[in-house]
Amino acid sequence: MSRPPQRRRFPRTKVCRFCADPQLRMDYKEPEALRQFITERGKIVPRRISGACAKHQRQLTTEIKRARNIALLPFTVTRK
Ligand SMILES: [Zn+2]
Repeated sequence: MSRPPQRRRFPRTKVCRFCADPQLRMDYKEPEALRQFITERGKIVPRRISGACAKHQRQLTTEIKRARNIALLPFTVTRK
């Protein structure tokens, strides 16, 4: 019944992690990496949450769409 008065917020990534780490790549051939950027329902995580900059978010979207096209990632996850 009683909830703790303060909830901890998720730590925000201030800097785009792709900018921060040039070795971190997004590739449609690596759906496991891309999976971090989709919700459990299969939607692409918005930039506010992913923390990616415009450039990388766009790249991410492209890679996710590619991965979807070759069925590595779902378009949507349908649940009962
Ligand atoms: Zn970036």
